[in-house]
Amino acid sequence: MVFVTKDIVELLNGSNDEWLYQAADKAKRQTYGNKVFVRGIIENSNICDRNCLYCGVRKENKELKRYSLSEAEILECARGIRNQGIKSIVMQSGESQSHNDKKIAQTIAKIKTEIPDCDVTISFGEKSRDVFKMYKDNGADRCLLKVETLQDDVYEYAHSGYKLKDRIKSIEDLLDLGYQVGSGFIYGLPLYTQEKFAQDLLSLQKLGVHMYSTTPFIASKNTPFADLDCGEVNAVYRSNAIYRIMEPTVNIPVTSALASLDENSKAKGLRRGANVLMLSFTPESVRKDYSIYRGKNTVKTEELNALEALEEEVKKADMVPAYERGRSLYQYKGR
Ligand code: SAH
Repeated sequence: MVFVTKDIVELLNGSNDEWLYQAADKAKRQTYGNKVFVRGIIENSNICDRNCLYCGVRKENKELKRYSLSEAEILECARGIRNQGIKSIVMQSGESQSHNDKKIAQTIAKIKTEIPDCDVTISFGEKSRDVFKMYKDNGADRCLLKVETLQDDVYEYAHSGYKLKDRIKSIEDLLDLGYQVGSGFIYGLPLYTQEKFAQDLLSLQKLGVHMYSTTPFIASKNTPFADLDCGEVNAVYRSNAIYRIMEPTVNIPVTSALASLDENSKAKGLRRGANVLMLSFTPESVRKDYSIYRGKNTVKTEELNALEALEEEVKKADMVPAYERGRSLYQYKGR
């Protein structure tokens, strides 16, 4: 279905929720049936060189104890994920020159050798094309790299010193290299009007990503944006539904950010176009230190043995958890 900016703004405002959510659910079921892909995430380090104004792991947050998991610890987490039957492993970290890309790529190669039936997603921020290629050559299948916004003014305000064009370049490199790419926005950032956000949904569709993920902005302590209002949760559900209708074959997760603002987010999100859930397998000893936003890794259903709780939520949405690699059915058509 083809929308123009004005249609999207109206839908984001809740002008036609009943139609929107039904159409999104139908589009989702036509592509993925009643399946919900389940992923396990390992937050392998909170060390970060950047100072994104909204993010709790920003470099200048001195309140945080910094950690980096060893290779043995990462492998142990990966085994833990596979032992639960999950075949989709996501690794995420802060973005830092101090991370040893070669070593982490080798760790991914070891995961893939030991667990050949799994897919690995990396989410380490921007890297050079060569480094992304090295990760791919070592077995990385997908990358999650949110652009956060596709508006220069919004981007530069929230990421002082960094340029949107570099972020976009990374997305294009990843697509060229044959990654399945996930991206999306933070709804409710300062300067981010609904009109701009609506334009961005159309621009992201043109970029051609395989997965759409938008979080509501969460005001996090020890950040310059700590006192701002959080992004509106309903607009995030609506944006998921709109994108599902625009591109029925993409994967769309219900994010943990949404869960930290809305207790019933999983079942609700799954009924509104989403088809992916993620569970944290980060070791308990460091989990509280991966606090990119308030509430992250503290909500009940993010605990290590949370698989049962997750299955309950999936059932509430009349769907079934699918323990498979969970690739996106979206076909990137090139530039
Ligand atoms: N360093 C990696 C991973 C970042 S954390 C990278 O740059 O890709 C994963 C995502 O959490 C971010 O991309 C951002 O979209 C989201 N996030 C971080 N802080 C947030 C906040 N305060 N509110 C909402 N989303 C946030």
